[in-house]
Amino acid sequence: MRQEKQDYYAVLGVPRGAGEEEIKKAYRKLAFKYHPDLNKEPTASEHFKEINQAYEVLSDPEKKAKYDRWGQADAGWGRGFEGFGFGGLGDLFDAFFSGTTTTTRRAAQRGADIQAHLTITFEEAAQGVEHGVEVQRVENCSQCFGSGSHPGSQPEQCPVCSGAGQVRRAQEGLFGRFVSVSTCERCGGEGKVIAEPCSQCNGTGKQKVTRQLTVGVPAGVEDGTQLRLSGEGHSGSHDGPPGNLYILLSVQPHPLFRREGDDLVYQLALNFAQASLGHKVKIPTMDGKQELKIPPGTQSGREFVFKGKGVPHLHDRGKGDLVVQVSVLTPSSLTKEQRRLLEKLADTLGTPEIPAEEA
Ligand SMILES: [Zn+2]
Ligand SMILES: [Zn+2]
Repeated sequence: MRQEKQDYYAVLGVPRGAGEEEIKKAYRKLAFKYHPDLNKEPTASEHFKEINQAYEVLSDPEKKAKYDRWGQADAGWGRGFEGFGFGGLGDLFDAFFSGTTTTTRRAAQRGADIQAHLTITFEEAAQGVEHGVEVQRVENCSQCFGSGSHPGSQPEQCPVCSGAGQVRRAQEGLFGRFVSVSTCERCGGEGKVIAEPCSQCNGTGKQKVTRQLTVGVPAGVEDGTQLRLSGEGHSGSHDGPPGNLYILLSVQPHPLFRREGDDLVYQLALNFAQASLGHKVKIPTMDGKQELKIPPGTQSGREFVFKGKGVPHLHDRGKGDLVVQVSVLTPSSLTKEQRRLLEKLADTLGTPEIPAEEA
């Protein structure tokens, strides 16, 4: 059922032995690049799955240690190796609803994570927002509470393994007879089988549900920030906890401001006269207009800073600044009168001296 295991480090483009932060950074970058909502190339979703698969293993210290030890050839324990979860809803629903039994184990297994995508406005990112997000996920069946047995009925002992959950098979090998033990395929290692399947979930114990969740987006998030909603992923199996919901944020650009970290940058265009003589302007900020006095003789490129008028720091108190960058515009077309005046001005200003080799 699983495709061949890949080199997860190569998938994320990080060297073996890469640290937690490096792995996370690489993942975020790639997840953003290949997210099916953003990337319409036909191979994007396949790629996205691989990236998530790799991240799921490398971001989990325990799984990572196992993976580092056993490598990509195989997990070393054959089919018993813990499943890596999956990259998208498709796989999971296939597994649950096509009647295929996966190689489940008795041990509780955490549910798979869900990756969702949310676009918010520039202001919402700066000020924080409560945003609705629709998520399709697998939850425990509401009729049988995940047991898979019809209410009132009980599971019965597996007829194949007699409740052991394992099947022993004697085989003749090159070095003599040996006994192999494998998970019982009939009951998937449970030792019990459902006698009367739940009518709502056909005995899977799971159901596909669409939920409207509310996400609290904190003030100060950036384009590409990923939020984690613990326990809002798919339900686990065998009483395992649910996975997490990860929400990748896209922040729309603002018509007036550019963001540099937690600072806002505003480009102020002045004409030559305003810059030379000085000028009073109203500068837009995230909370209303602010007056700015441009002193006479202001040069293009000069910056004026409004302290604390930027975006709130995400992990700290306080806010960034609003930086006003002046650019002095040279007129590209002049009326006759303007031309006459400028020529007159030019006469009084004289000509700046230009070194001979550059002239
Ligand atoms: Zn059910
Ligand atoms: Zn069995």
